Order: sequence, then C-alpha cells, then structure tokens
Amino acid sequence: MKIIYRNEVIFKLIYLILILLTVVFISFYSSDRMVTVLSFLFPVIYIPLAFRKEIRRFRLVKKQFPLEFREIIGEYSKFYNFLDDNGKRKFEKDINIFLNEHSIRSIRGEETDLRTKVLVAAGVATILHGREDWEPPFTDGVVVYPGETFDPEYNLHKGQIAGMAGDRRPLLVTKKILERSFKDPDDGYNSLIHEIAHYFDFENPIMSGVPVIGSDKGRTEEWLEIMEKEREKVNRGKSFLRPYAGSNEAEFFAVATEFFFERPEEMVAENPKLYELLKGFYNIDMQLLFKDKN
Ligand SMILES: [Zn+2]
Repeated sequence: MKIIYRNEVIFKLIYLILILLTVVFISFYSSDRMVTVLSFLFPVIYIPLAFRKEIRRFRLVKKQFPLEFREIIGEYSKFYNFLDDNGKRKFEKDINIFLNEHSIRSIRGEETDLRTKVLVAAGVATILHGREDWEPPFTDGVVVYPGETFDPEYNLHKGQIAGMAGDRRPLLVTKKILERSFKDPDDGYNSLIHEIAHYFDFENPIMSGVPVIGSDKGRTEEWLEIMEKEREKVNRGKSFLRPYAGSNEAEFFAVATEFFFERPEEMVAENPKLYELLKGFYNIDMQLLFKDKN
C-alpha cells in the first residue's frame, strides 16, 4: 500500500491547475469583488478534500507503531519475523493503513478484539507485501465469526466453512481458525490468505483460478496448463496440495497460494513451475525469505 499513487495524484493536480486557472480568470475579469473572494475558496476546499487519503496516510506512517501490535505480530507472524528491518517497517505501515481504512467487525457489527484485528491486518500485509502498489482487493471490510465454522446458511458452530470470500461483499473468517492459521505457520494452511486469494480471482470476469496477469494470452495459457496438471494430480491423490485444491480452478489457486506463503521450499521441490507462477504474481520469493534467517 502506497501513500502516493502517481497517476491518482497527477489527476488531482490537473484538476487543481484547472481550478487555479479559473480563479485567476475570475479575478482578472470579474468586477464583483465578492465573486473574486469566493472563487479563492475553491482551491482552499478542494486541496484537503482531494488529497485527504494521502494526507491521512502520511500522518499514519509518521505515527509510532503501537507496541502491543508489534508484540502480537511478533508472536503470531512467522512472515514478519523473517523480514529485514525495511520489510518490517513496510509491514507495520500496511497494518496501520489497513486498520485505519477498513472495518473488522463481529457478526453483530461490534468491534472485535485487538488480537483478531491485528491478525487480519497481518494476513493482508503478508499477501500484499511483494507489491507496493497493491491495495486490499476487498472493499467491504472483514466480518469475524465466533468459533470455528459456520454452514452455508451462516449458522454458527455448524457446517465446515471457516471463511468465505464474496464478490463485492465482506470477507468472512472464523476467529478460532484464523488464530490457528497463524499459530501453526508451517502447515500450509491459512484461512485468511486463502480467502484473500479468491478476491484476486474475482477481478476476472469468471473465477478461473488465473488472477489478472495482463493481457498476455500466452501467459494465461501457461498458468492454466501448469495449474491443471497439478490439479489432476490432486484429484488422483498424488499431489502435495490438500484434496480441497481439486474442487475447482478457483480453490486450486487459493490453496496453492496458502501453501506458497507457508511451505515454499516444499512447493519448489514438488512443482517449481507452479512456485515460479506464484512468485511472479505475488512478487516475492518466499523460499529465499524463509532461507535468509536459517
Ligand atoms: Zn476457497
């Protein structure tokens, strides 16, 4: 997550220049002093409104990262602990921005506890870490369900659903499975990372398991071929990925993403081509990151 996105700021500056030119024009040609004085209000109102996101983010990164946040991520996030100092600062900045701009609420709309909030933000900061210009792919916040699971009718403590991603809907995750996902960072399972990965897939007209990777048709075909081969292995019980990856293309992508972030070395050994795809997409060499401190 960036403080300033060049293209956005260029647009805003163009509007500002147009406003200023209008003000100059009015002050030259208007004989009514009141109109001239009022025209000066346009830029005064426009600047803080147009640049409010940049101003807010700038202030946020200047603020000290809360010690209790750092204690939680230090205890729960293996990813954070393997980052160098610059990486840690970026991770903390992303947590600060995410928590300030996105809601994390319980099913009755109440505030959730601090640890749950920080863990959700840590998952977001993990998956976005490699690409500075990425924003969280969901816009309606996160809803945390109590317990471990819910069923398709959203009944608590029933069924087998531990998380859900819905296009233009909040990301759902259960509190206990979220905690467990972080507590065991090497099992290749992280419900939050899984659900966030689905949102990248929603950016396509159909959920094909291939996130938006540009208009290069050859690359899309390469993705499909590599993923389909491994998915067949999943369905024959011969893959390193868990059986759920065989459900469909979208689940394959989400399960492979979880595995990539937690057990990169094994993925490199089992399917280096799949690893390279995900390394390119998330722009991070997880194997190298986890190796660095060994
Ligand atoms: Zn899924």
